[in-house]
Amino acid sequence: MIEAISESIAKVVGEQKGPTVVLLGGIHGNERTGVEVVKKLAYQFEHGEKKLASGVLYLILGNPKAIERNTRGSEDHADLNRCFKYDVLERVPETYEQTRAHEIAKILATADISIDLHATNKPSVPFLCCAVDEAHEKIYQWFDCDRVLADPRYILGGESVTTDEFIDLQGGVGICYETGQSTDLTRVDEVLGDVMNVFIDQGMIDGFVPTRNTIGRSIYELMSVINLTDAGFRYEGTLGGGSFEEFTIGQTIGYVGDEPVVAEFDGVIVFPKIPELQTLGKPVVYLAKKIK
Ligand SMILES: [Zn+2]
Repeated sequence: MIEAISESIAKVVGEQKGPTVVLLGGIHGNERTGVEVVKKLAYQFEHGEKKLASGVLYLILGNPKAIERNTRGSEDHADLNRCFKYDVLERVPETYEQTRAHEIAKILATADISIDLHATNKPSVPFLCCAVDEAHEKIYQWFDCDRVLADPRYILGGESVTTDEFIDLQGGVGICYETGQSTDLTRVDEVLGDVMNVFIDQGMIDGFVPTRNTIGRSIYELMSVINLTDAGFRYEGTLGGGSFEEFTIGQTIGYVGDEPVVAEFDGVIVFPKIPELQTLGKPVVYLAKKIK
């Protein structure tokens, strides 16, 4: 049985006891694959096409206002996935994003697993963003991609700020899956299939999972961030087109004003911000290193 428990948050309760899992799409409103996956799954439960054998499943459209606007946040520069931090969650919410973060964090705090579906604004192969250990791998093994980006030093937000970081600190297992570029809707059914395999593997849905191939994934770690200053930032050459573009040690990545930013390691750029999302004092791009 599926029940709407608040705006764009539905709860499905299984027949038997089992894990509590949260599936999130549209935490960023313009990242449409996750939105479509959550909507399709909600439809299937509503119409009896799927049945939850065990556990509790929350299907959440993260940021309804931003989904309606088809933009990252409910207003310019608002970012729900930077709100899952204690100083926001312990205070009375002041913005729409903070209010949503409060509602969603309450559910995440009760959950064992969260799967948060995202997409990138610039071209990128699909990749996972989460901690790397056995518990996380048991969940993310079902997502078809060849790399994981970990952030053990909280370079992304300076502290725990995302849904996966929040649930990890609460003792759960959080993963974020970047499905590809935000405008690409060709992978909806494939991603839905990956999510279903997680549910089957967890015993929540009856069925059989395919045999996994055992080819390892490359592991990257976030190392540093380039913030936008008054001096401005521009890339050197053709860099800046999308996540996982490579650079080598000693290479000039770009310029802060006239000052070159020289790579201190062989690595890749990740999450290069499109101009309309660049904000003074905030990251324009992150640098990551392949560690495995
Ligand atoms: Zn996102």
